Amino acid sequence: MARAGDGRDWPTLESAGGILSLIATGAASSRAGLLRQSGLSRVTVTQRLNALLTAGLVRETEETLPSGGRPTRMLAVNAAAGFMLVANIGETHIHLAAMDLTPAVIAQTTLPFVVASGPEATLARMAEAFQSLIEAALPTHRFFLGISLSLPTPVDFKRGRVVGPSVLRDWDDVDIIGRLRERFAVPVYVENDVNLMTLCEYRRNFPDTEDMLFVKIGTGIGSGMISGGRIFRGAQGAAGDIGHIQFLSDDAPLCRCGKFGCVEARAAGWAIARDLARRGFSAGTARDVIGLVEQREPEAIMLLRAAGRTIGEVVSDVVSIINPSLIVVGGTLARGGDFLLSGIRELVYQRCLPLATRDLSIVLSAAEEDSALFGAAYLLLENLFAPAEVDRLLHRFLLSRPVLAALPG
Ligand SMILES: [Zn+2]
Repeated sequence: MARAGDGRDWPTLESAGGILSLIATGAASSRAGLLRQSGLSRVTVTQRLNALLTAGLVRETEETLPSGGRPTRMLAVNAAAGFMLVANIGETHIHLAAMDLTPAVIAQTTLPFVVASGPEATLARMAEAFQSLIEAALPTHRFFLGISLSLPTPVDFKRGRVVGPSVLRDWDDVDIIGRLRERFAVPVYVENDVNLMTLCEYRRNFPDTEDMLFVKIGTGIGSGMISGGRIFRGAQGAAGDIGHIQFLSDDAPLCRCGKFGCVEARAAGWAIARDLARRGFSAGTARDVIGLVEQREPEAIMLLRAAGRTIGEVVSDVVSIINPSLIVVGGTLARGGDFLLSGIRELVYQRCLPLATRDLSIVLSAAEEDSALFGAAYLLLENLFAPAEVDRLLHRFLLSRPVLAALPG
């Protein structure tokens, strides 16, 4: 067999993208699976797989299945073959990390975040922090795969740009991808936090559920959808933005988006806090609301229940349109448990057709602080190893190994 470094693997490795993609996406996890899925001959599959194994991109392990019997040789992407940089911009902090291909954290750091600093200064500080993370990861994980960012705001995914109005004032239409690519020359992805939390929930907790809805109820309200195992974004990335669906009534409250009667203005953390403050409680955020609910303050519980029913109204419309088999409710207000969930369940079961609710589960998300950050990592892996992109990835991998790349094909 050809060994890495003598050059004979290079052309084989460069044509091994399809095999790598099948392994990375979980479509095949054994040699037999590769033969079946690729439609290639046994000789070709073996050659290409050997090139990937020799390059250290794929590893083979012996595993005994729970059912017992002979150990089976399983194929997986080698988690230590490279690293990626991810960051989640939150309300007050930016969490940045270098992760391997598991994804698991290799090194991490946080920066304070002030919206008023603006995008240029913030991106420059993030780039400095990324540089330190590269220095931490590079000695053990030689190949730098790419960058993925989570932003707390609507993002036009195809263009990687913020589309306001949003909490990130002054970020409208800033070329975030361009700025980072200029400095790091790797693929860069930018996505909103709710879609990434949805992706993390799917990949980490419900990998077998191909059609699910994730609803984040915190200071604001948003949702993400997985359809056929992929994030459903719509044309501009605005799909799932349920917080500003309006229902009008005589007393429709003013929303922070400037319209009247939005779901957010009736049921988000900031709206419940507003109503509690009017009743004399000291409340300004979703956390304050949950604090009062946990102290069993009857008025806070009553308002959270009412919010659950309001959200249930809009969620039932979404269920009728996309027919998920699972709804996961997360965000700060989800800590209110059944006080929130019962209203959502009540409305969904009342309003949707039996076919849509027969096998529908509605559950609370396990609170995971880092789900947007890990979602960013899953997003990057999904895109880099996608069939259409994987050849580009292999090409960059070869360039990162000067001994192989210098030899003629
Ligand atoms: Zn609104």
